[in-house]
Amino acid sequence: MARRRLSLLNHLHALRLAIFCTLFLGSFSPATTADQLELVIVHTNDFHGHIKEEKNYAGAARISALVSQQRKRHPRVIFLDAGDAISGTPVSTMFKGLPIFEVMNLMNYDVGLLGNHEFDHGYKEILKFRETANHPLLASNALDPEGNLIADMATYILEIKGIRIGFIGVITQKTPSMITPLGNAGLTFLDPETVVKEEVMKMRSDVDLLVVLSHLGHEEDKDLADAVSGIDLIIGGHSHTYVNPPVKIDSTYVTQAHRYGTQVGLLKLTVDTDKNSVTQFSSRLIPAASLPLPDPVVLDRVNFFEEQVEDLVDMEITRSSRKMSASEIQAMFEKVLSHTAKADFGYYNSGGIRDSIPAGSITARHIWNIEPFANSLVTLKIKGSDYLKLLKRERESHPSTKSISTEKTYLVATNSFIGAHAVKAFGTAVHMNDLGILVRDVVIEHIKNNGLE
Ligand SMILES: [Zn+2]
Repeated sequence: MARRRLSLLNHLHALRLAIFCTLFLGSFSPATTADQLELVIVHTNDFHGHIKEEKNYAGAARISALVSQQRKRHPRVIFLDAGDAISGTPVSTMFKGLPIFEVMNLMNYDVGLLGNHEFDHGYKEILKFRETANHPLLASNALDPEGNLIADMATYILEIKGIRIGFIGVITQKTPSMITPLGNAGLTFLDPETVVKEEVMKMRSDVDLLVVLSHLGHEEDKDLADAVSGIDLIIGGHSHTYVNPPVKIDSTYVTQAHRYGTQVGLLKLTVDTDKNSVTQFSSRLIPAASLPLPDPVVLDRVNFFEEQVEDLVDMEITRSSRKMSASEIQAMFEKVLSHTAKADFGYYNSGGIRDSIPAGSITARHIWNIEPFANSLVTLKIKGSDYLKLLKRERESHPSTKSISTEKTYLVATNSFIGAHAVKAFGTAVHMNDLGILVRDVVIEHIKNNGLE
């Protein structure tokens, strides 16, 4: 990041010079005509460690090839990421996310954002991501227990051949309920709308284009566009939404590019640098299959990391006669965990099922991609009424809740993520026992022995 900070200082000097010239020479210069400058923005979100090309996930090398192609064609190209770059693949989990940022460096990102999954290894690990990444990682509203910013910076200004672009990074306030409490105690997430409003007021007159990098989710992004004026573009993430074409709310464009590198967002804007506004806008989501051939340098690095995990994960454990949906996988996990822990029943949060099972050969990698978080199997001795509270959104739909008596105490098999949240919510009223074995290992072993039926 040292290079970027220096260039930011240079920008400040340039700005002072510009103000000087405007103040003292302005009256002598001829009337300026509007400067219409073209800008190309390539964006990703919720990449979740999918550096390798598999299924309909493009992989880092093909996305990088698109960015290089655009940079050859256009003078102004910026490459942005809207958070949750890590957690989703064996290579990310085994090396705690670092290889993903190393590969992103070769892809030449300009600006990134902290998503909730960047907290998966505890917030202190984010310092390593910041040290590894060549691009700044933003988040204006995430504070550590001392009240300091967890990200590199809240906002960032990038100047590219005559266009000054301001970035504000923002992350969902629901982050504490979505991340492991381990290593994440005492964090504060400020109200995104309030923080963005303040930053827009500070930056707007200083930039030609104002971009919010958001890890709030698509609906929340639309609300933000509605509530705060002065934002030209919101590049979103978190909800894994396929937004094509972008939504326009007042004068703000709102977009998002699905997840896992299945799509890459490509925007072309004309920026009027006199009026600080967007005069033309076109957009495309490019599916993985339509991307150029892999960039060999990036592919080399991806293979270097993948070779270190493939012996462990790329062996067939069974064959599947059909594709299994997320809810079928959730039920299968619950059955296996309950059986292994000899519990009354199993509960597995639907948000913890991160991928599907295809028809054909099933490898351990498939299970790693479904459960990339290295959660362990735990049992909870919990009162029926507390269990119902724990389920929150799934309370209506989960099959286990039909026969629950609120007064009875149950032994529930689940993962350590849910276990930690139960302890946080109910304290000593719930008794957690960590069985010290990983959920994915339990499931892999079960499938090896019993198949999927
Ligand atoms: Zn997220």
